[in-house]
Amino acid sequence: MAELVADYFAAGWRDRTLSCPCGWQGDSRAMAMELHDAVTDYACSQCGNLLLIVSHPTLEQVRAAAGAGHDEALAHLAIIEEALVRFPPATG
Ligand SMILES: [Zn+2]
Repeated sequence: MAELVADYFAAGWRDRTLSCPCGWQGDSRAMAMELHDAVTDYACSQCGNLLLIVSHPTLEQVRAAAGAGHDEALAHLAIIEEALVRFPPATG
C-alpha cells in the first residue's frame, strides 16, 4: 500500500526510509520517480512497487508555506509569480 503525502511541504517525507514487501528499503531519492499532472509517484527501484504518492502543492499551499518561511516554497512561489506575470491566467 503506497503512502500518500497530501502536503508537499511537510517535512521529512523525502528522507523517510520506506520498506517494500520485496525486501528493498530506501528513501525517495533512491526510488524510481514518475511525474504526473497532480502527483509524483515513487516506486521501489528493485521491483517497481508503488511506495509513495506525493500530491503537488496547490497555489494556496505554496503561498501558505512561503508565508511560513519555507525556503523551497519561496522558490516555488517566485517561479509561479513570474509565470503568472508572463502568462496571465485566462479570465472568463
Ligand atoms: Zn520492491
